[in-house]
Amino acid sequence: MKNVILRRGKDESLRRFHPWVFSGAVQRTEGEPQEGDVVRVLSADGNFMAVGHWQVGSIAVRVLSFEERPIDGSFWQERLTAALEVRRRIGLAGREDNTMYRLVHGEGDGLPGLVIDIYGATAVMQAHSVGMHVARTEIATALREVMGLQLKAIYYKSETTLPFKADLGQENEFLLGRSDDDVAIENGLRFHIDWLKGQKTGFFVDQRDNRSLLERYSNGRRVLNMFCYTGGFSVYALRGGAQLVHSVDSSAKAVELVNANVALNFPDTTRHTAFAEDAFRYLDRMETPYDLVILDPPAFAKHRDAVKNALRGYTKLNAKAFEKIQPGGILFTFSCSQAVSKEQFRLAVFTAAAISRRRVRILHQLHQPADHPINIYHPEGEYLKGLVLYVE
Ligand code: SAH
Repeated sequence: MKNVILRRGKDESLRRFHPWVFSGAVQRTEGEPQEGDVVRVLSADGNFMAVGHWQVGSIAVRVLSFEERPIDGSFWQERLTAALEVRRRIGLAGREDNTMYRLVHGEGDGLPGLVIDIYGATAVMQAHSVGMHVARTEIATALREVMGLQLKAIYYKSETTLPFKADLGQENEFLLGRSDDDVAIENGLRFHIDWLKGQKTGFFVDQRDNRSLLERYSNGRRVLNMFCYTGGFSVYALRGGAQLVHSVDSSAKAVELVNANVALNFPDTTRHTAFAEDAFRYLDRMETPYDLVILDPPAFAKHRDAVKNALRGYTKLNAKAFEKIQPGGILFTFSCSQAVSKEQFRLAVFTAAAISRRRVRILHQLHQPADHPINIYHPEGEYLKGLVLYVE
């Protein structure tokens, strides 16, 4: 067995069940662990602390279990069964009007480095660590057992999420079957999911609840869905009775996707138009008066050292929206940067409101949904935050 021995006093965070061991806490290793290996973590006194995946980088171990146990087929089955049970109990899995949800959300499901999204009969699996990559076949086997015959395909999509330095040369591939049915259902609305080429696992399942809230505010409003990607918010706004919906994304591919998804749900609508344009440019030049605006940009800060610039970006973007939105309008504004805290984001938006001199009320504070749970011992797992603002 390969062991990782901690420096004296550096076992405290593991005693609080935090699932990461930082490299600075490691005193030495035994058995020459390679990146991706399963290792035992021992305190300076030699007491067993945890078992996890060894990594090269600032996080040295991602903990899989605080009990001494083998990481084998039955481990994966147990964890996946528990994850599915949660989704069933919260009313997300096993529904006909909602066939897509996140089954595994990394640390939130006791599986650091692993993401699995379910789209109807297809599971899209993403590894963010070499350990999960090494275990991919075992995980796929367990997933098939746990999901049963309803699961027809498992697509492994880790080309861009595995640590770059590990240089694994991994290409995206099907680990099980293959599926041509690319339509999945979210709250009764149908969406094409491009798991082969789309961003993330093909769809942003994390905005489901926030889209439902938006639907409630859409009736009769003129809606701008900025950074629309596959157009989730646009389709909900149409169902909510929006007078018109404009979707904007700098990517032409996204414009194709949103148009396809609108056509899938509202084939005859004349209320929707999509534009391929840069957000800032569009906001500067737009002439349509909007009274419901969504700003859901990509993560402006991918790392801690980019936070300052990211906050400036959020302020600039939101200031433009405040400047343009109609009186009595509602702004849904989001940040999905994990490195930016709720408080920092709120301050950036507050600054934007002050710049525009508009009177603004916070109606709702939004976050990630229940199928993206946060491990209570791992507050870093909180990443999506949003504000719904009434602009007088
Ligand atoms: N709101 C979407 C997810 C948005 S992802 C949903 O609910 O699914 C972020 C999107 O922003 C991507 O599609 C990306 O193409 C787009 N984007 C990135 N930079 C942009 C820019 N400067 N202007 C407009 N769109 C941009």
